[in-house]
Amino acid sequence: MKSIRKHAQRFAEAYRVTEGKGFRLRDVDPADTLGIKSEDKLDASQALQQGVEEISRLQEMLYAQDRWAVLLIFQAMDAAGKDGTIKHVLSGVNPQGCDVHSFKAPSSEDLDHDFLWRGTKHLPERGRLGIFKRSYYEETLVVRVYPDLLEKEKLPPKLVGKHVWKERFEDIRHFERYLDRNGVVVRKFFLHLSKKEQRRRFLDRLENSEKHWKFSAADARERERWDDYMEAYEDTIRHTATEEAPWFVVPADNKWFTRLVVSSVVIDTLSSLHLKFPEVDSARRKELAAARASLANDRR
Ligand code: ATP
Ligand code: MG
Repeated sequence: MKSIRKHAQRFAEAYRVTEGKGFRLRDVDPADTLGIKSEDKLDASQALQQGVEEISRLQEMLYAQDRWAVLLIFQAMDAAGKDGTIKHVLSGVNPQGCDVHSFKAPSSEDLDHDFLWRGTKHLPERGRLGIFKRSYYEETLVVRVYPDLLEKEKLPPKLVGKHVWKERFEDIRHFERYLDRNGVVVRKFFLHLSKKEQRRRFLDRLENSEKHWKFSAADARERERWDDYMEAYEDTIRHTATEEAPWFVVPADNKWFTRLVVSSVVIDTLSSLHLKFPEVDSARRKELAAARASLANDRR
């Protein structure tokens, strides 16, 4: 168990960004595997299985202790593996202790509120793991790539100046610091896929009828704006990577490796909370002993 946590720490540290200044996306290779060869994938999948069991154990304590909430945010281009990663990493977790929420294009009710509103509605309760598949970060990504989306947000025009993105970064940083101070632990993942691998995965979806449902024409349109998205991601990470709410820029060209890194970060995060089952005080111990005695005598 100790060694799982040690490994997890190493994988997490390799891709953690806590200080955004000077961060460059091109310094992280989407095909990186920290030297693990794809022949050793099998070992990696065993490690992943052990990781899943460890996450399940830690999550049970998180739930029993009922103090911390953990929010995991997943951002990525299409086909980077958000769904598959979430599914694998959480496969051992009790569904009652975990909520997944997908953020799609905002509804008219969402657009009638401030941009963090719909995110706050889905924050995890204490004792739970919350997963955001996309998040309020779309507000400095897709909304930045398509400025007409910002117009639809019906903000008073005098509030939308040339510093609007800087202001959003500042608001997000403050919001995440607020969450941190309230026992909501925030960890953010950017699944970093190469444009080449995205093409390969799109073609696979188009060629395989069981995967057709996963492909939409919108995905191809987004691909055309690839460079704008990469710029927006880089700038977002630069301005919102903090000690209390780090980004993890996870190589995403090899699915097995993405899953290994993400599960490592989850293990490392949960371990850092020093979780334990609540202690039983003497009054409660007496209560339990009485219940045990009464059940032992009850032979009807
Ligand atoms: P999948 O394709 O695996 O189902 P997905 O997250 O890509 O997952 P889609 O329904 O394809 O789901 O896409 C959701 C879309 O909603 C994305 O294009 C995203 O950019 C968009 N979106 C999310 N939040 C916002 C926002 N605040 N403003 C505008 N668009 C948004
Ligand atoms: Mg999609």
